[in-house]
Amino acid sequence: MQLLDPPIPEAVPARHVTRQARVVWGDTVVTVGGDAPVRVQSMTNTDTADAIGTAIQVKELALAGSELVRITVNTPEAAAAVPAIREQLDRMGVSVPLIGDFHYNGHRLLSDFPACAQALSKYRINPGNVGKGDKKDRQFGQMIDIALRYDKPVRIGVNWGSLDQELLAVLMDANAHRAQPYEARQLMAQALVLSALESAQRAQELGMDPAQILLSCKVSNVQDLITVYRALAARCDYPLHLGLTEAGMGTKGAVASTAALAGLLQEGIGDTIRVSLTPEPNAPRSQEVVVALEILQALGLRAFTPSVTACPGCGRTTSTFFQELTQNIDQFLRAQMPVWRTRYPGVEQLRVAVMGCIVNGPGESKHADIGISLPGIGEAPAAPVFIDGEKRMTLRGDQIAAEFQTIVEQYVQQRYGATPRHPEQVA
Ligand code: SF4
Repeated sequence: MQLLDPPIPEAVPARHVTRQARVVWGDTVVTVGGDAPVRVQSMTNTDTADAIGTAIQVKELALAGSELVRITVNTPEAAAAVPAIREQLDRMGVSVPLIGDFHYNGHRLLSDFPACAQALSKYRINPGNVGKGDKKDRQFGQMIDIALRYDKPVRIGVNWGSLDQELLAVLMDANAHRAQPYEARQLMAQALVLSALESAQRAQELGMDPAQILLSCKVSNVQDLITVYRALAARCDYPLHLGLTEAGMGTKGAVASTAALAGLLQEGIGDTIRVSLTPEPNAPRSQEVVVALEILQALGLRAFTPSVTACPGCGRTTSTFFQELTQNIDQFLRAQMPVWRTRYPGVEQLRVAVMGCIVNGPGESKHADIGISLPGIGEAPAAPVFIDGEKRMTLRGDQIAAEFQTIVEQYVQQRYGATPRHPEQVA
């Protein structure tokens, strides 16, 4: 058999070249765009006027890995609470920058509540909701003036659910005079892109540094989102915030967001992402952050948490023990990360395998840093453990889960600790 020539090219994500924005709070500087890693954002769903409740949820999102957190600022009460939220977060040692989400009255709230304008690190402006007629330019200008006064970046965030109707009417009129009018979807895509680009241009004319302007054009259909962002990326170098709006609940929302964001990220488009999951009743808000992190980690763009490779199980899997062990080790690793992240630099690259039988178990386990191959039906009741590609021990009995967890913990301490030992020395 001959080797293939030319070789199979590797799939390497490209990177759409953008300027780099800085989102700052105190000593915390989150760079977005340019050569910065793709950032993870999230948004609270608390009443912002409830400063303590909102601060607690922001902390939850930040601890889950959100690097920027957006909060609704919709009423005077909400605007008045923003400095208190910021102070509470600072007291809790949470320095994640806050982004204010404004619609309809942002110009007034930012003017009337200067402490709110100061406490926020970025303003989201929706050009479709900034005002109508001659008020639109004036109110948009007011928000940009305040951003300039406080040295804050802005995101021009267009959404197809609140598209600028005046702009759309102009485009529809122009389209009606074309010999071959564009279809409705094409026109909608154009309206989204033009709304974002024109607003960004206007912000620049008012004095904004182009590097402090981020853009987004969110729609709820996967193919439309890809179409719109490709068009946007081809026409500007502003940092782009990606998100499939109203993605939905649970598996549907996670899969739709992944399909949309992964395709664009693989093309190098996107500098920040948000997964707009509808939370399931009683589910933590941070679920949207977990999905966002997983998307970036699965694409190999970033590493946040040790990855657990597990087979799906099949008729050879003996019991639910295999599923339980996979879940336990995954939960254990995630729970350790807030501490491990600083104590064991590089631990997020750790690869653990939990496999259900001898068919792929030893092979997959050897490819991981640590892997365990559980006995399938008809196999001897023994679970070989592989460390750095070598079979190092065999676990038996009813303490396999606890023993395997201890082995993983020891490996992490010894490989990623302050004075790491060579993996050969791991027990
Ligand atoms: S490794 Fe074994 S148990 Fe797991 S899916 Fe493959 S054959 Fe089934």
